[in-house]
Amino acid sequence: SYFEQLGLAAPILKALNAAGYDKPTPIQEQAIPSLMQGRDLCGIAQTGTGKTAAFALPSLHHFATKPKPRQAKSCRMLVLSPTRELAAQIAESFRTYGKFLGLSVLCIFGGAPVFTQKKKLEGGVDILVATPGRLIDLIEQRALTLKDVEIFVLDEADQMMDMGFIHALRQIDKLLPKKRQSLFFSATMPKTIAELGNKFLDNPIRVSV
Ligand code: AMP
Repeated sequence: SYFEQLGLAAPILKALNAAGYDKPTPIQEQAIPSLMQGRDLCGIAQTGTGKTAAFALPSLHHFATKPKPRQAKSCRMLVLSPTRELAAQIAESFRTYGKFLGLSVLCIFGGAPVFTQKKKLEGGVDILVATPGRLIDLIEQRALTLKDVEIFVLDEADQMMDMGFIHALRQIDKLLPKKRQSLFFSATMPKTIAELGNKFLDNPIRVSV
């Protein structure tokens, strides 16, 4: 298949096959090869373009080929989303594409009981999808550390700014390791958003769909 030509690990190809995907969407075609090489990415893309798989597939490939034991209260990948609905969708996509990999995916957001989320973080997770407010709560309560994050995704950056998450994003940025892969997505890219992206990214490839 077309996905095979991208060099994705066999368990991911199997999951894509099970999901009925036969070829990459334009953003997946543009983004996946560079992301598999570890590059940062700045993407202008709306929901519905296949953007989630564009960042989920190369990340899952990274975890499939470089497995590591889970660390307590820690995660290897952090995806930030402005809303709980979007966060839940993203987590569901990771579960679908990663179903033959045995990775742990956790979604945390405000409004759900903190106690349960803390419990689930105790042994650590591979992939954490979160809204910014609850993420900071859990860090402040010492239930989570970001020191082991290898891949960071900021999704819907324009919506994050509109919702007043700028202070939270700056706080989170300070806690992330300097050496990491970063991906930044926004539906629109006015100057303020582009500047925010520059803070998170190192020599990114730029894609627009
Ligand atoms: P997203 O833009 O990530 O919200 O994805 C939009 C929808 O397209 C989701 O329902 C995905 O399951 C679906 N999708 C993503 N990539 C592909 C693909 N390569 N082939 C078929 N469907 C896809």
